[in-house]
Parts: sequence; structure tokens; C-alpha cells
Amino acid sequence: MTIPFIDLKAQYAALKSDIDARIATVLEHGKYVMGPEVSELESRLADFSGAKHVVSVSSGTDALLVALMAEGIGPGDAVFVPALTFTATAEVILLVGAIPVFTDVSPSTYNIDPADLKHRVEQTIERGQLRPRAIIAVDLFGLPADFVALDTIADAHNLLVIDDGAQSFGATLDGRRVGSLAPVTATSFFPAKPLGCYGDGGALFCDDADRGTLYDSIRVHGKGSNKYDVVRIGLNARMDTMQAAVLLAKLDVFESELTARESLAQLYDKRLESHFTLPPRIPGATSAWAQYTIQADHRDALAAELKARGIPSAVYYPSPMHLQTAYQIHGEGSGSLPNAEQLSHRVLSLPMHPYMDDQVAEQICHALVDASEAVSV
Ligand SMILES: *Cc1c(COP(=O)(O)O)cnc(C)c1O
Repeated sequence: MTIPFIDLKAQYAALKSDIDARIATVLEHGKYVMGPEVSELESRLADFSGAKHVVSVSSGTDALLVALMAEGIGPGDAVFVPALTFTATAEVILLVGAIPVFTDVSPSTYNIDPADLKHRVEQTIERGQLRPRAIIAVDLFGLPADFVALDTIADAHNLLVIDDGAQSFGATLDGRRVGSLAPVTATSFFPAKPLGCYGDGGALFCDDADRGTLYDSIRVHGKGSNKYDVVRIGLNARMDTMQAAVLLAKLDVFESELTARESLAQLYDKRLESHFTLPPRIPGATSAWAQYTIQADHRDALAAELKARGIPSAVYYPSPMHLQTAYQIHGEGSGSLPNAEQLSHRVLSLPMHPYMDDQVAEQICHALVDASEAVSV
């Protein structure tokens, strides 16, 4: 029996009748683009997250891109992003013509470090070449960023805080859900995310009605009062009706899946605490556990030993963004973002999904401890 890293087949087996029925309905009504499931999903996501306006889009990347386009962010603008993230967070900034300013992460949360952010915003202002406009905070591995501290910095410099909640949909901070932690939130429904569809999908969340209207316009080619009234340059960035149908079926069990993820994280914590650095937790916050990520010495050797014992693992991310080929001109080279660089050598994500038996989890922990002993001799 192979142990999957994420078990989408087990989820489908559990939800098959609901998912199949939802898909069959779409095949019958035939409204494949902007069908009724799209607005039904948006209102369900608004209820779930507490955000007033939800606009579904074609991917998490497009959600971020639409968010920047709506603010008119472009040439001459600086957008601050953590260096330890997926490329999508940074690439959208360059796509609109602005410049990403890579910022270090906190060693205690792995999320953007408010102290380093403050320093980089002030430095950008001093240099006088770029206009600071926004912060894209990433809720890495599912744990919300420090939005209280980010708001203080954003208020002082009139910056927009955008939550890249691609990994954190379902997480909470001080009783509020992702989607209502920042003025703008972008999430992803890529299959491997905590709430995933069967292809690409994403959504934008906000409370401001004008923003919601702009997002709706940009995702449909900059439409005005109708599709053939073009009032701005937009995109084709709609979510397919079929994906909305899949998400509606999955949303029914999402709360219980989040609970199952938390239980698995607690089991891992208990078994692994005396051997590894455990994933960060923050008082007042819950994680959506997109990933359960430990820190380990000799990480690559440990992953190889695990693989030999039939346990898959993954590294998010083997290189921080400022050291990636495509971004080197925008970073300050090796050593400039030490926490992100150090974490990229030490992090290891373990199998995490809501359908794992405790027995399998115990087997993974046993193999991990065994593998770490093999590596350290
Ligand atoms: C997955 C991910 C994205 C992009 O989402 P897609 O739906 O794949 O476009 C953006 N940011 C982060 C942090 C992600 O993990």
C-alpha cells in the first residue's frame, strides 16, 4: 500500500454521490460559463468567510492579478512580498509592470516579518525610485499572517494589504476567517489546496462594494453594463461552472475536513515534538493545514531516507524567490533575506489530508524518527 501525500481519491470516494450529482446538473442545464452554480458558490463563500463580496475567478494567480489591476498598480510602484512563497505571489506584480520588494519572513511564523517589512518600506521611500503601494501577505502553509502588525505599517504609509490566502482558506485569526482578515483576499482552489476543485479556480474576497464590482468587470474583459460594453482592459478570468459545482459539494464537508486536518496535526505534534522543530502555531489563530511542515537538519538526506521507507514528503520551497533565476534582478542576492534562505534548507512537509487513518499517521511518525536516526549516525 502506498501512502499518498494528499489523498484526493479518498475524498472523491467519500463525496462521490454529491459531486457526481452536482456535475450532472451542470451537464443537464448546459450553462458551462457563469452558470447558476457560480453565484451560488460566491454567496456560500461569502457566508463562510464573513466577507461581504466574493468574486470567483479562474485561479489563485488570476485572483492576485485582478486584485493588483483593480488598484491600478503598475510601473513605478513597489509591492512588498515575503521571499518564502510560491512564484505566483511575486510574478503578478511584474505582470502589471510594478516591482516586487522581497521581504524576509519571521523565523517564528514563516510569514512576512513586520519588522523587516517596516525597514524595507522606509528604505524604498528613502531611495525615492519606487512608490510603495501594497503588501501581499502570504499565509504560508495555512497559518494567517500577522495582520494586526501589517495594518499598522500599511496605515502609516497608505498601503493596501492583500492577503494571499491560497493556502489558508478556512483558517481563522481572532475568530475571523480568512477572507475577512485583510481589505482584499485572494485564494486558490487548485486541487491540492485545503478547498480544491477539479482543475484551476480561485476567488477574491472584500467588503468594499466598488472593489467587488471592479473584480467582476476585470474577470470578464473589463465589461461595463454588459459584456459588449467595454469600459476597461480586463481578462478572461472566470471560474468554470463545473468547478463551482465541485466546490459546492466539497464546501458541505469543509468544516469537518478542517477539524480532521487539525487532529492529524496534533497527532504529528505529539509524536514528533522531541525530534524536530514543529510547525509554528500562533495564539488566537487556527491553521488550514495546507501543509504540515517540520524543520530538520540534513533535510535532503532525511527526505531520501523517508522515501526509502515508502513515505512521500515535499519541500516548500527549495529556493526563496529572490534567488530564483527569474527574480534575481529584483533581489539583493544571497544573504539578503537570511530567515527565508535558512528555512528553504530546513523545511520538510509531511503527508497531510483529512482522510488519513491514525494508524497511517503513526506509521509515518515511526518512519520519520527511524529515518532521522539513520541520517544522524
Ligand atoms: C497555490 C498558490 C498560488 C497560486 O494559486 P493557483 O490557483 O495555482 O494559481 C498563489 N500563492 C500561493 C502562496 C500559493 O500557494
